[in-house]
Amino acid sequence: MIAWKNSPLPVLPGESPELVLFDTALQSTVPVRPGGEASLYVCGITPYDATHMGHAATYVAFDLLNRQWRDSGNTVRYVQNVTDIDDPLLERANARGLDWRALALEQTQLFRDDMEALNVLAPDNYVGAVEAIEWIVPVVEDLLRRGLAYRVPGEGAEPDGDVYFSVDAAYRLDPEDPHAWRLGSVSGLTADQMLPVFAERGGDPRRPGKRNALDPLLWRVQRAGEPFWDGASLGAGRPGWHIECSVIAQRFLPAPFTVQAGGSDLVFPHHEMSAGHAYACSGSPLARHYAHAGMVGLDGEKMSKSLGNLVLVSELRSRGTDPAAVRAVLLSHHYRTDWFWTAEQLTAAEERLARWRRALPLTSRAQAEQLLAAARTALANDLDAPAALAAADAWALSAAEQRGEDADGGDLAAAALDALLGIRL
Ligand code: ZN
Repeated sequence: MIAWKNSPLPVLPGESPELVLFDTALQSTVPVRPGGEASLYVCGITPYDATHMGHAATYVAFDLLNRQWRDSGNTVRYVQNVTDIDDPLLERANARGLDWRALALEQTQLFRDDMEALNVLAPDNYVGAVEAIEWIVPVVEDLLRRGLAYRVPGEGAEPDGDVYFSVDAAYRLDPEDPHAWRLGSVSGLTADQMLPVFAERGGDPRRPGKRNALDPLLWRVQRAGEPFWDGASLGAGRPGWHIECSVIAQRFLPAPFTVQAGGSDLVFPHHEMSAGHAYACSGSPLARHYAHAGMVGLDGEKMSKSLGNLVLVSELRSRGTDPAAVRAVLLSHHYRTDWFWTAEQLTAAEERLARWRRALPLTSRAQAEQLLAAARTALANDLDAPAALAAADAWALSAAEQRGEDADGGDLAAAALDALLGIRL
């Protein structure tokens, strides 16, 4: 698939401090040393509804990581998927009386437009699940051949032959390997903690014939009325979600790649199982680090499709809201916190950007250099965007007080805000 357009990234003078990032799997803040070649996978959308503020917060959060790496002199290889075939997409398409392909295309385009408006750097590879099916099939066949996956017999309405991943078999692959994947390696959850979450997030712990209730689906054989693809020896069908990301990441990124990222609702089972699949396939961990963004609610309530209280980026854009102000609201919360969107925050962000714009022509070189150094320090410290915004507020205040003497730093200040925070004034 094509991604979206990138704006050119300004190159800044000087150097950034070393990045530390909170690693979910380690439950601590650790130095990230990509060694000049960073690689990032951020799980993409299932395109059945437009980009709400929770999605936007996740992609903007890891856009900061991309920008921090680039500013530190690394090349960055960035991959994102689009789950353009999955149960929720089919359910929504049926409910709206649309062809699932038309719904996926429409919502994927809206997402691209939202990302471009929010100045999120585009992935190098933007890959749809449908495009990946031909790569997924041989991987699932190989897992079956090696006893790491198995077929479940049909029962009731369920046909014969769905393929599941055996978490226990993968666990026993190499008990001596300190980097081996174990159920819980990424999430840190116990099996008892996993069970209810698994059921809540698309898993089927009660499916008869599974060896372990937590085994995830790899291949769903064809059902009447559902789309299907050639699965070679697997039979016609379509892939599970975790194997989709695992195969796409392994195809386009090194093993292990630097950071696997997404919203905190993807820690389990999605990232846990994607990591398990990758280890079972290649014997190598999927990623070195796992990073997760908090959830966004609206006015004190969880933002969800079922509650019908989504704040959509595209709706704000169509009302004429400055996307840079939306981005500034997202950056005003640390990426790991859960928070609530309110209209007041958007107004405050618009006022903040107006102060910054007024400060630009009044800025001295020294003030711009101070802003650059403070923003770099903030980002290198676990992507602390609120601290970077506070530094920019301090800069704007001091520039205003200086009243434009030696005002030769405006270009550098603007470049720093653009390159590091993605805010173009
Ligand atoms: Zn994913």
